[in-house]
Amino acid sequence: MGEVSVNGRSYRVPERPAAVICFDGCDPAYIERGIADGILPTIASFQKNAFYATAESVLPSFTNPNNASIVTGAPPAVHGISGNYYLDRATGEERMITDGALMRCGTILAALADAGVKTAAITAKDKLRLMLAHGLRGINFSSEHADAASLERNGIDGVEAMVGRAKPDQYSGDLSLYVLDAGLALIERRAARLLYLSLSDFIQHAHEPGTPEADAFHRAVDERIARLMAAGAVVGVVADHGMNDKSLPNGEPNVVYLEEALARRFGPGAVRVICPITDPFVRHHGALGSFVRVYMRQARDLAALMEASRALPGVEVVLDGPTAARRYELPADLEGDFVVLGDAATVIGSTRSEHDLSGLAGHRLRSHGGLAEQKVPFMVSCALSGAWLRARAGRRLRNFDIFDAVLNGAVVP
Ligand SMILES: [Zn+2]
Repeated sequence: MGEVSVNGRSYRVPERPAAVICFDGCDPAYIERGIADGILPTIASFQKNAFYATAESVLPSFTNPNNASIVTGAPPAVHGISGNYYLDRATGEERMITDGALMRCGTILAALADAGVKTAAITAKDKLRLMLAHGLRGINFSSEHADAASLERNGIDGVEAMVGRAKPDQYSGDLSLYVLDAGLALIERRAARLLYLSLSDFIQHAHEPGTPEADAFHRAVDERIARLMAAGAVVGVVADHGMNDKSLPNGEPNVVYLEEALARRFGPGAVRVICPITDPFVRHHGALGSFVRVYMRQARDLAALMEASRALPGVEVVLDGPTAARRYELPADLEGDFVVLGDAATVIGSTRSEHDLSGLAGHRLRSHGGLAEQKVPFMVSCALSGAWLRARAGRRLRNFDIFDAVLNGAVVP
């Protein structure tokens, strides 16, 4: 049996289809509630007959750093992706991460594809595809641009015909279901043996556990997991981050506008606050999450700035850049002068004018990014071997251990 080595870990070449799903924004609360309400029979069966645990995501608990960790099996210090949006210290420019150019290492997907495994990476949003398909010689496309997939660019065409329906609206739960349906079609056609299926958290940002919208979506995902298994795949499921209500009792978002607060205290232009959750799809969260990076500008007293930040209600953790990089395994050269994390009920913003909250359209703000959203579900459709479990005993389970579990640990019946 062959294996490949990626970022210091080895992965067996799968003999039967293996699908890893990144269930974006699937807080364990959705699973607990869904199982209690009987809407997740497949996942409930994992708890009894296969493998179900809670794992830790990487911080900041955002989509890009965690997807990059899952496909590399490594923390951000290794792969270099620590947000969706960052400040380039060399040029002073603020930039969106829009492709794989900043990835500093190879992926498990690319290595297994190079070893001859037919591999596919399918994402809800196209921006994430470009990052995950870094170096991948295989199929890669997004539901967002399913209609435009071409052999040259995506390794596949005719996606809409294959799935049997047109690409969904980009602001819909169906954008994620389409990813799973496309993955199933690829397995059924034997067009892929290793699949990474990355969903979007559009539903979880807007709907709490137990609501009709959340129930319908999670039930639909559960059904598709069962279909992937029926098609012969070993299925692993993790989330990139959890999700919490970050609103006040009156329904307004519970925001600390940190750049404004520090300007009031230390003078105009004291600092620049970068919100790494910022991406082109901010309608459902207004670019508000619970982790920001702060860069000193006019103010230069780091200790005083950190102390003032720590004193703000809703702030849970304040760390200087090097300490944050060490503690959370982040790339030190991309860290701010300090980082500020909001608690479970609080998001941190920069200034009021930079956050457009009109897109919330009456919804309570639900978001992520901090310690409170680090716990995620981790499940595999088969039991894991005693050897795999013993080798991991006493170490904390991370969401980026999922390919290891599926490829090296799963006991295929
Ligand atoms: Zn996400």
